[in-house]
Amino acid sequence: MKITELLSKIQGEFKISPFRILKILSKIEDKDISFFLKDSEVEISHQTFDFLLKHLKEGYPIEYFTKKVSFLGNEFFVDENVLIPRIETEDLVILAVNLIKNKNIKHVIDIGTGSGVIAISIKKQTPKIKVQASDISEAAIKVAQYNAQRLGVNVEFKIGDCLDPFLKDIEEVELIISNPPYVETSFIEQNRFLKYEPRISLDGGYDGQSFFKKISKYSHLLKSKYLLFETSEFTVKKTAEILSTIGKVQILPDSFKKERFIFISPHY
Ligand code: GLN
Repeated sequence: MKITELLSKIQGEFKISPFRILKILSKIEDKDISFFLKDSEVEISHQTFDFLLKHLKEGYPIEYFTKKVSFLGNEFFVDENVLIPRIETEDLVILAVNLIKNKNIKHVIDIGTGSGVIAISIKKQTPKIKVQASDISEAAIKVAQYNAQRLGVNVEFKIGDCLDPFLKDIEEVELIISNPPYVETSFIEQNRFLKYEPRISLDGGYDGQSFFKKISKYSHLLKSKYLLFETSEFTVKKTAEILSTIGKVQILPDSFKKERFIFISPHY
């Protein structure tokens, strides 16, 4: 199949730039074919084409082919052990960095860090503060550690669920941030675009609220802290209600004007 034919087929269906497609093909065929962009006569194998098309059609994320994602201007490694960072989560980090600067916050924890994008980006932008991050998945922590090392930042990573790894020193923590699993189980099961990402990074239980219910049990330990969470526009009100025992709750929009973030500040 000719490159031009392939590009027009794939592009029409998936709206990806030709350059990106060629980069992916280069990975699959294990040779750099991206320079063929200008040469429409180059043939690529039907096998490669079928492989790529089949995977993309089934919802296999392109980022798991390319093994990288750009997040707030930095390049992060991703693989099947971690959720692919979404663009909305950049807004969460921007909110956090503004808060850290305005309130002179010195110690932040990121729960369920996955590839580490939140913790690492915060540490990059506010290098003087202490940033710790956790994940229940050891494989995810390895990815996050690799990203921190590649980007030259010092984040302390811990394996464990929810607040568990931080309970010992919880008094010192001033901001808790998380993009937890918040998708309703039934939604994941119906959505082919979510089936290749780790279930534990997405599945928030039948109502998407498992993480928020769990953390609300610790409300007595969290009353003097700031909390910033990503959630779904469809369930944000429910999340706000669950977390209202902790402090003053505000719902904040993402750049697409979707009500996505929960911000909790102390009552006083
Ligand atoms: N934003 C992701 C999605 O809708 C979900 C991420 C999450 O559960 N934290 O696909």
